[in-house]
Amino acid sequence: MTRGLVLFDIDGTLLRAGDREHARAFVEAMNEVFGRFISLDGVPLAGMLDSEIARLALEREGVSPFEVEQKLPLVMERMGERYAARVLAGDRTGWVLAGAVESALALGDAGFALGVLTGNARPVARAKLEAAGLDELFPIGAYGDQARTRGELVRLACAEAERYYGVHFPPHRVVLIGDTPRDIVAAHEAGAKVLAVATGRYAILDLEEAGADAVLPDLSDPVVTLTTVTALLSGQSED
Ligand SMILES: [Mg+2]
Repeated sequence: MTRGLVLFDIDGTLLRAGDREHARAFVEAMNEVFGRFISLDGVPLAGMLDSEIARLALEREGVSPFEVEQKLPLVMERMGERYAARVLAGDRTGWVLAGAVESALALGDAGFALGVLTGNARPVARAKLEAAGLDELFPIGAYGDQARTRGELVRLACAEAERYYGVHFPPHRVVLIGDTPRDIVAAHEAGAKVLAVATGRYAILDLEEAGADAVLPDLSDPVVTLTTVTALLSGQSED
């Protein structure tokens, strides 16, 4: 029996945001698959799914929706290969935000199941976690190439967590931890709770206004993280 499932966002939550190797791999993969330069300039990135970002960038360049859908899986695969070829195990350990690991460990010790929920395509996300030394701490997740919206990813993460941990997690036993209003919308769409942290591009006030159930400046104090997550799920039924 676990106390619930906690799903961490990656960029801006576990790791510092702004990984240029990710953007570089993204552009190179689109170039390779479409045979021409496709820019990401001006496309919103924070809190977006990699698949959404690719759709926006490609349709802006006049690529037909049909061709986008046909080639999107290949773009995601090539992006992952390029990222993993450059960002090796250990290369992102210096990017881990203060207290992120300690907070996850405290939650794990207290009986919560852990996973990631990220806009990163799966191959990039797993390479990033490995580069940061976090892959074993977050054995499961849902990723930005697996659905059209972040809200849908919550359901996929719950299903994946059930397969891995052997426990059913209804949405009201799930807490997302993320750094953008898009994490907040996703959690609420799915019926989950959300703890927002101001370690990405949004300030505490922005996250409060966006309707987060709880907001912290950061995850630096694992006791505060654990207390906050526990409080979010208190009063929710166990099944
Ligand atoms: Mg983020």
